[in-house]
Amino acid sequence: MMEPPDTDPPILLVDDAVLKKERAKARNLRNSQWWKRRLARGVCHYCAKPFLPGELTMDHVIPLSRGGRSERFNLVPCCKACNTKKQQLLPWEWNAYMERHKP
Ligand SMILES: [Zn+2]
Repeated sequence: MMEPPDTDPPILLVDDAVLKKERAKARNLRNSQWWKRRLARGVCHYCAKPFLPGELTMDHVIPLSRGGRSERFNLVPCCKACNTKKQQLLPWEWNAYMERHKP
């Protein structure tokens, strides 16, 4: 898909090897007790609605493609609706969305 250059989001080039490493780290954390406890709380980090642990997915607050890392402070439980929305919106649009939906 072609976009006019002036609307392009800033692209941060992340090394493939780094991405692979961070994805592996996320997989390991997904199996950790820490993550199971986060899921057991059953709350989406973004919309703060209650969910079953199985309905929540792991989300990188700062996406790996934007230089985020698979560290605990950057990983949050997120419902599928929020996850989809976050992926469809540009970062500034997502921030604006979150501002409007603050609990
Ligand atoms: Zn949500």
